Amino acid sequence: MLEVSDLSVAYGQHPALNGASLRVKRGEIVVILGANGAGKSTLLKAISGICEGRVSGSVTLEGEELVGLPPHRIVEAGVALVPEGRGVFGDLTVMENLLLGAYAERAREEEAGNLDRVLSLFPKLGERRGQQVRTMSGGEQQMVAIGRAMMSNPALLTLDEPSLGLSPLLSKELFQSLKAVRDTGIGILLVEQNARASLAIADRGYLLENTRIIHEDSAAKLRSDPAVQAAYLGGG
Ligand code: ATP
Repeated sequence: MLEVSDLSVAYGQHPALNGASLRVKRGEIVVILGANGAGKSTLLKAISGICEGRVSGSVTLEGEELVGLPPHRIVEAGVALVPEGRGVFGDLTVMENLLLGAYAERAREEEAGNLDRVLSLFPKLGERRGQQVRTMSGGEQQMVAIGRAMMSNPALLTLDEPSLGLSPLLSKELFQSLKAVRDTGIGILLVEQNARASLAIADRGYLLENTRIIHEDSAAKLRSDPAVQAAYLGGG
């Protein structure tokens, strides 16, 4: 469904991504693991058309080329991004944030159905629909951010470090909810530093080191790979 081929990004003279190629299928969770500065956020921004650098190569979703399209057209094509730091509107309520996610044309006809789907995935958002988002916990705010992205009726959900700043328990809940999103048939591309929790729910993964994808495998094989364990799983 998503096919990234030979994607490169440079900020001025500084390369941030070199020839990345990867795929995400429908109903699949794919994780990109990599250290700080490896180029993970750059990859997601380039897919969503919001990268400030010079982008070359190809990104297609269901065969449609996305490189060069403005960000709103990429949302219309079916890509939703949950950015690092969530990007929710703290002064607005849960419901207002969710409805802001439904501005895309592809989302409007399906608004009621999408809202039902989001509220069944995250029942807490329904219970708290009138609450101002800035008064919510970090984990709840992350659910609002994911719910808002889901309101655009995406085929592919991309998330930049969603577990950042969450307690281990909340991270676990968050990752479980991503499994539920996947089971609705959406493809998920997840960038994470929390290798253990993300590999536990992922189907496949890629290792991004120093601007390059150096390895790809099933999540199960990555978990048992001694080199991955040493570099990303704290030796265990
Ligand atoms: P982190 O986990 O720390 O966010 P990352 O793997 O997501 O790391 P990126 O944010 O993609 O890394 O950054 C990759 C490289 O590109 C870094 O060296 C960063 O300093 C540089 N970079 C990112 N955005 C810009 C920008 N707008 N202008 C110039 N350089 C940038």
